[in-house]
Amino acid sequence: MSMILDGSRVRDAILRDLRPRVEALASAGRPPALAVVLIGNDPGSQIYVRNKVRACAELGIAGQTLTPPDSITTAELVSIIEDLNRRSDVDGILVQLPLPPQVDTRRVLLAVAPEKDVDGFHPMNVGNLVAGRPGPRPCTPSGIMELLRRNDIPVAGKRAVVVGRSDIVGKPMALLLLHAHATVTICHSRTVDLPGVCREGEILVAAIGRPAMLTADYIRPGAVVIDVGMNRITDRDQAGRIFRDAPERLATLAQKGSLLVGDVNPLDVREKAAAYTPVPGGVGPLTIAMLMANTVAAAEALAKVCA
Ligand code: NDP
Repeated sequence: MSMILDGSRVRDAILRDLRPRVEALASAGRPPALAVVLIGNDPGSQIYVRNKVRACAELGIAGQTLTPPDSITTAELVSIIEDLNRRSDVDGILVQLPLPPQVDTRRVLLAVAPEKDVDGFHPMNVGNLVAGRPGPRPCTPSGIMELLRRNDIPVAGKRAVVVGRSDIVGKPMALLLLHAHATVTICHSRTVDLPGVCREGEILVAAIGRPAMLTADYIRPGAVVIDVGMNRITDRDQAGRIFRDAPERLATLAQKGSLLVGDVNPLDVREKAAAYTPVPGGVGPLTIAMLMANTVAAAEALAKVCA
């Protein structure tokens, strides 16, 4: 019987631990403040930003959303970011991606002051991560480390396999596992014998973006499997192939018109893994919790500088 790693429970615990720190900052002057820059009408981005601002409100963090027009130029957006950098009443700055095509995303991310970069995407913070120096870490992978830690899953000495090498998930995930003393392999679309490499993983992290791609063949018996994938599927035949014996999932598809599926086959992982994150309810809830954690840490650091 495999263990389900419940991300919502860990999220609640992370937020509970942050609450006294938020209260201490509020009573010492002002609560932590996060500015989110949202451009355009991408429905996914709008939902993410709404959830982030709601999480701020629930925790007592002052969240504000800036919505410049989607005709904005790179220079105009950089100037907005520089203004936020200067403001002493803003601790964290988050630029919701993707940005409109005319905007140079790299230049914009580079403009965010590293100490206010709560996403951990600034090259200086990427360098801090590589060097193992303190600094904000990208939220999804650091949430996964919290999930492992709070479930007493040992990492040191383990063989870890990360599928995906993106800057926001795969690479930082591999580095965090490495710093926690795992022996890490990073896989991608050119990896030869992907199933064989994945089967070496005592910890297997899937950050691919392909619905249910990792089937039984990829999973070492007794592995801990972390499924980062969030894929929305609408095709009934595809859903039927993935959720062979789960009529309630097919009923959800019929009712809502789409289903959220991870990168790992949900039935195979249940049979082969010792522990795994479900989709939804696994990694998803952790990302915003770690954004809150990075915002509180940025506010504490700023308060110390100003004291
Ligand atoms: P990217 O598209 O940036 O990266 C995907 C990675 O998967 C790439 O490195 C790519 O390899 C690799 N890949 C793609 N196809 C294959 C294949 N057939 N075999 C092996 N490797 C493959 O995605 P992200 O890292 O941004 O996101 C990954 C998934 O995680 C998505 O489903 C996304 O929605 C989800 N996600 C979830 C979050 C959460 O909070 N739960 C947060 C962020 C992302 P290559 O580099 O060679 O192209």
